Amino acid sequence: TGVQGGPLTTAESRALKRARVGGDRRAFDGSLVVVTGAGSGIGRATALAFAERGAEVVAADLDLATAQRTAELAGLVGPAGHPYQVDVSDAAAMEDFAKSVLHDHGVPDVVVNNAGIGMAGSFLDHTVGDWDAVLGVNLWGVVHGSRLFAAQMVERGQGGHIVNTSSAAAFTPSRTLPAYATSKAAVLMLSECLRAELKGKGIGVTAICPGIVNTNITRTSRFVGRGTEEQARSQEKAARAYALRGFGPEGVAEQIVNAVRDDRAVVPVTPEARLSYLTSRLSPRM
Ligand code: NAD
Repeated sequence: TGVQGGPLTTAESRALKRARVGGDRRAFDGSLVVVTGAGSGIGRATALAFAERGAEVVAADLDLATAQRTAELAGLVGPAGHPYQVDVSDAAAMEDFAKSVLHDHGVPDVVVNNAGIGMAGSFLDHTVGDWDAVLGVNLWGVVHGSRLFAAQMVERGQGGHIVNTSSAAAFTPSRTLPAYATSKAAVLMLSECLRAELKGKGIGVTAICPGIVNTNITRTSRFVGRGTEEQARSQEKAARAYALRGFGPEGVAEQIVNAVRDDRAVVPVTPEARLSYLTSRLSPRM
């Protein structure tokens, strides 16, 4: 099948095939779902998983070309996909984005604040710029997306659901990802606070906490190239192993769809992540 941006690559056809085998075929009929960081990895898989279940998808990414591609693919399995370019760390740009979505398509039923970047290095290696970059995208991006779209949902008064992408790194102290882990721990708490506040208004909030997933973040960026070769190799190995157990990008997307359907608060994606989450809640880390 040819789509606007050129013929499907093998990886794209596989992703579409996987999206098509999901259950709950019409579970999100008539819904509008916004996904940030939708041009790649977990974001693209999530956009396709919702599209396949009947949702119209707003695919937003810093990289417009990849968002366009996701929107085209979503249109192949679902009613329609709409691409947007936005930098989630930019408050003014996010405000314009939220206004455009409202104007063009209405209030979203589901928002997945998924855009994120990695950052390897020890605490002593991290510069102020590193902290700004990671917190800018991973924390502020989620704050902007949550507050702007939650306000629209509250105003409409018909409920909704916000999913924020945290990570298993949120409850695993790290010597190699201090800024990243801190940003993800903040997203976890932010999501729990927001959930407590919005519960009475019929709006659910979920923090999704994947383990190591086989995507660009782990594959190519190697947490922005600072990690050692050995770390990069062991990450790739773990990501491949998780993918084989069903915790690749499509597996995470499935968990996101289920978390919205079942209104789950915190979803550690792998059994290992679940164990470290429960342990972190039960015992002080000392
Ligand atoms: P990815 O690199 O494949 O996708 C991230 C997407 O976010 C890219 O399309 C990128 O262009 C976009 N993005 C980056 N900065 C942006 C910005 N400022 N504004 C808008 N879009 C931006 O990686 P992924 O693994 O799919 O990551 C998705 C989310 O999952 C991230 O929040 C990541 O931290 C989280 N996560 C990933 C893993 C993993 O192992 N891959 C594990 C746990 C959590």
